[in-house]
Amino acid sequence: MIYIKNKEEIALMKKAGQITKGALQKAIEAVRPGVKTIELDRIAEEFIRKCNATPSFFRYNGFPMHICVSVNEEVVHGIPGEYVIQEGDIVSIDCGACYKGYHGDCADTAFAGAVSEEARRLVEATKESFFLGLKQAVAGNRVGDISETIQTFIEGKGYSIVRDLEGHGIGANLHEGPSVPNFGRAGKGSKLMPGMTIAVEPMVNLGKYDVYQDATDNWTIRTLDGSLSAHYENTILITDGEPVILTTL
Ligand code: MG
Ligand code: MG
Repeated sequence: MIYIKNKEEIALMKKAGQITKGALQKAIEAVRPGVKTIELDRIAEEFIRKCNATPSFFRYNGFPMHICVSVNEEVVHGIPGEYVIQEGDIVSIDCGACYKGYHGDCADTAFAGAVSEEARRLVEATKESFFLGLKQAVAGNRVGDISETIQTFIEGKGYSIVRDLEGHGIGANLHEGPSVPNFGRAGKGSKLMPGMTIAVEPMVNLGKYDVYQDATDNWTIRTLDGSLSAHYENTILITDGEPVILTTL
């Protein structure tokens, strides 16, 4: 189901977005060699609770921690734990916070110390693809206009777009309609309308797009070929004019 948000709901989503981005930024800033991923979880959780919000991911479908931390070939849904971040790692952090019943959802990929040139380019292209897709997020366009723009840019760089996971509507539910895939055809999919709030989140692999889920933790998604993967996400609002990023400080 797609829900069009009213002014009051949008105000709450702005607040939720600000908290979510604040928590993400704290965790991103803490990424360095020698830090355990569980420490990033504590930093984000503490920030969210201090803002009188709750971590959206905690116990969501049974997820055991408060944020997702996915290192190198891990795409998304990595569970923070005892892993010690190494020099050269790329660390994707996905954060959600719920404020007065409304959610924010955003992600970014940080560098631990000096990373390879190919890793840096992958992460930068992933972020750039989001902002290109964002330009298509205007009323009257369709979701597919965002999808095709992201896919075309990423594949033009020689990378691949993960196909088994996608962006989503967001509001009183962490995940709601419409689906926002990062690949597809312009002119297809749901029509964008003012008051729609969606999370656009390209997941980009250096190698092939195939992924698999860890059979032990039943959460962590990794690239099948072991190549690096990057993630970037914001929650955005469709308006009568330019789209508005809700997950911003
Ligand atoms: Mg997310
Ligand atoms: Mg999301």
